[in-house]
Amino acid sequence: MKAIRFHEHGGPEVLRLEDAPDPELAPGEVLVRVRACALNHLDIWERQGLPRVQIPLPHISGSDVAGDVMASAARDVAIGQRVMLQPGVSCGRCPACLEGRDHECPRYEVLGYRNHPGGYAQLVKVPVQNLIPIPEEIDYVRAAAFPLTFLTAWHMLMTRARLVRGEDVLVLAAGSGVGQAAIQIAALHGARVFATAGSDAKLERARALGAFEVINHHTQDIAAEIMRLTNRRGVDVVIEHVGEATWAKSVRSLARGGRLVTCGATTGGHGTLDLHALFAKQLSVLGSYMGTKGELLRVARYFFTGQLAPVIDRTYPLADAADAQRRLEQSGQFGKIVLDVS
Ligand SMILES: [Zn+2]
Repeated sequence: MKAIRFHEHGGPEVLRLEDAPDPELAPGEVLVRVRACALNHLDIWERQGLPRVQIPLPHISGSDVAGDVMASAARDVAIGQRVMLQPGVSCGRCPACLEGRDHECPRYEVLGYRNHPGGYAQLVKVPVQNLIPIPEEIDYVRAAAFPLTFLTAWHMLMTRARLVRGEDVLVLAAGSGVGQAAIQIAALHGARVFATAGSDAKLERARALGAFEVINHHTQDIAAEIMRLTNRRGVDVVIEHVGEATWAKSVRSLARGGRLVTCGATTGGHGTLDLHALFAKQLSVLGSYMGTKGELLRVARYFFTGQLAPVIDRTYPLADAADAQRRLEQSGQFGKIVLDVS
């Protein structure tokens, strides 16, 4: 098969289009002909190399995949079925898996990260339980753009923060994958959404997605604007993934009893916390990573019925994966960048 691989860590130039061995199926696994694969920041971090994380080389990235079932070593799978893939791979038999918290499995892996070659290729293999059939009217590009960010945003808002109808939510970086998903999910559940972005064009798009008020994080102080817009109350929930650059402002934006949920630290992992504010305002700081297979099936229902839709920024041919990653690294996008592997 053709695949984009890297043999050493570095910049986008280490990505090479080349021949790679076809995946070999073990019992219970399914081979999928990839039609589209969406990018995530994880792809960039693993290409650059992460401290304390061993990435087997050469490596194929890609966590968000849609395509057709080509072959199966599992029973009851229709060859030719159009599918999108659950990005989380787990053991299926430990207490966490059996209690429905498969993303807390000690052997949890994300497709395209570490030991599971991903979707920057013509073929990918996954356990049969990672298949999600998609309806005819959903195209491969949109299907590939959906799973990881909508699963992440759903788990943050609904499971970790326990969002309640009528609450105020601040979503950072509306143009990011998690941002565009979180705005839509929060608005759908009756929240008043405040969103930030770095340009007027992106702020307009955030409004179109359901944001009630928008804040330019390059020209305005996020916390000061939130206090002004909420009559000095603050928001009930902050959806964080930016990290060091915004952490202090995110904490200052919280109302009494507010919850800050974070799923990433794109600008760095060190944030400070005023412990007086933490206890006196009864704040909660919550970590969040991916979500369960059941949650993805639940949020996918809203996708398949047209109530949620991933925003597509741009598609690139598989061969231009390096250019696609450059666009993501430069934060030029609004929504998901997708590789077309047809
Ligand atoms: Zn497990």
